[in-house]
Amino acid sequence: MALPNKPKGELKAVKDPEVVEKEVDILIVGGGMAACGTAFEIKKWLQPDQTVLLVDKAALERSGAVAQGLSAINTYIGENSPDDYVRMVRNDLMGLVREDLIFDLGCHVDDSVWLFEEWGLPIWKKDEAGKNLDGKKGQKMGTLKAGGKPVRTGKWQIMINGESYKRIVAEAAKKAIGDTNILERVFIVELFLDKSKPNQIAGAAGFSVRENKVYIIKCKTCMIACGGAVNIYQPRSVGEGKGRAWYPVWNSGSTYYLGAKVGAELSMMENRFTPARFKDGYGPVGAWFLLFKAKTLNGLGENFAGSEAAKKELQKYAPYGTAAVTPTCLRNHLMLFEMKEGRGPIMMENTEPEKKNSEVMPTEPYLLGSHSGCCGFWVSGPDLDWIPASYKIKAANGKVYNRMTTVDGLFTSGDGVGCSGHKFSSGSHAEGRMAAKQMVRYAKDNASFKPELAMTKDQIVDLVYKPVRTYLQFAAYTTADDINPNYMKPNGMMYRMMKATHEYGAGTATYYQTSSKNLEVVMEMLAWMREDCEKLAAGDLHELMRCWEIIHRIWTVESHLRHIQFRKETRYPGFYYQADHPGQDDANWFCFVNSKYDPKAAKWDVFKKDYIKLIP
Ligand code: AMP
Repeated sequence: MALPNKPKGELKAVKDPEVVEKEVDILIVGGGMAACGTAFEIKKWLQPDQTVLLVDKAALERSGAVAQGLSAINTYIGENSPDDYVRMVRNDLMGLVREDLIFDLGCHVDDSVWLFEEWGLPIWKKDEAGKNLDGKKGQKMGTLKAGGKPVRTGKWQIMINGESYKRIVAEAAKKAIGDTNILERVFIVELFLDKSKPNQIAGAAGFSVRENKVYIIKCKTCMIACGGAVNIYQPRSVGEGKGRAWYPVWNSGSTYYLGAKVGAELSMMENRFTPARFKDGYGPVGAWFLLFKAKTLNGLGENFAGSEAAKKELQKYAPYGTAAVTPTCLRNHLMLFEMKEGRGPIMMENTEPEKKNSEVMPTEPYLLGSHSGCCGFWVSGPDLDWIPASYKIKAANGKVYNRMTTVDGLFTSGDGVGCSGHKFSSGSHAEGRMAAKQMVRYAKDNASFKPELAMTKDQIVDLVYKPVRTYLQFAAYTTADDINPNYMKPNGMMYRMMKATHEYGAGTATYYQTSSKNLEVVMEMLAWMREDCEKLAAGDLHELMRCWEIIHRIWTVESHLRHIQFRKETRYPGFYYQADHPGQDDANWFCFVNSKYDPKAAKWDVFKKDYIKLIP
């Protein structure tokens, strides 16, 4: 249920918060497109005796990556085929993707788009003469489901009037599971395995960012859909511009942290996304390229992307570089190539050419699995006969559950699913729905399972409120609240992390280049930071959230760099470069890279996993 806005300032944290304990069958952590998909779909399948709870750190109506709306839905299959969708994603992500997951998504995504339209989202339509009709005007051409023709920008994208996109989707989710089954403004900090059943998810703990309350929630099955990771690198927008980012600033890598900490296998965490955007404003460029057929020019006014030099450069990365549509990372690569040769800045022609062109620049790195990136968890594909055994994950009961991670009962969708990018908003919603059915099935198959946590109530409160207790113990020691020999504030830790990744971890400081030695340096720094996080201090609830967010970010970016370190090649030129391992090495690295954190031994294992081509 929504809580009122803060009357003034932040609520001071107290040493002993109220503790609320809950037990449900199905727990959904997150509130974005994927989680809303799960919440909406689950209602249809929920058994009369099953219970569900959705926990969002913000307010469902405006949370997640779609919070401020979108002008396009980037995945609508329509007249195309799911096979072709797989080929597009595979090409864009340099060959290494899970074709089972992408095909499966391609078969379901349009149904979510049809629902959005039914719920009131205006989708642009073509009239009989092929003219574009936006908003209400488009409605007279009938719905997409009834055969109305969308306004395509590229092959996969359709235009919408989407300022209220998230509100529309959230309303349907809320209505489906009911206000009383939603906890807003509650930040989940850790997941827990079962006390006695190995590798079985059993619950989560978190706190309210509006009240001094800790929540301990037991569950049989859990969805983690908390988006990707933003602000893990120093952003281009600093100082007064800080807070601007391409992806939502509140995406703190919680998806990856929460799952990894209980031992769920990650996949392709080396993949990142550094989108080319209008510089400093971060406005999307897709519609300019695709709808307006705009071109980018180098500083000399040349159309560099169409030049002979560019063609030659792209040939190095065949077959992807020479494909009909150049992969996103290689489009960046060409821009960076121009800039390094002294032919920057890169300008988008056509926005209002009679006035001034606008600069385009690749942003700081983001981690995500829903846009043109594919990091996330290794999950099970659907239990179909054409899907190889190595793409299916069997739970302890021997059954396969689509989109379940390698931890029994732990599911993910949207940004959480690895090796399957280009889902965007519609695909994330559809994937949340696909997982919902499996979660209900899992809870039903394990109806007699009684989750038990290994930690006591007091130990959990101590863990969640540790930064508050540290602050209250030592704050009086100094007059300046932020400076204290006994603790550190999350703001300072954020700058430390950003400086380290920016300079050593292939941030914008080095044109996204790193090397084995630089990676060694940054890994050591991150290990120190994790150690120092034990001394984080929070005076109010907002700061407590910042403490946990920075912990989640440090672990997430560490897993990213661990994967880059392991993969001794440069799979995604334009997203990152390894100076001592330039170019692609298909003979050794045409495979997935997976990693697993062992929660008992507190050790990481990074290893290769076979790629299997399923769609010709
Ligand atoms: P954006 O608005 O930049 O987030 O991109 C929206 C959609 O357009 C995504 O599906 C992108 O992969 C695609 N896209 C963006 N730029 C291009 C381009 N130059 N060529 C082909 N597809 C693009």
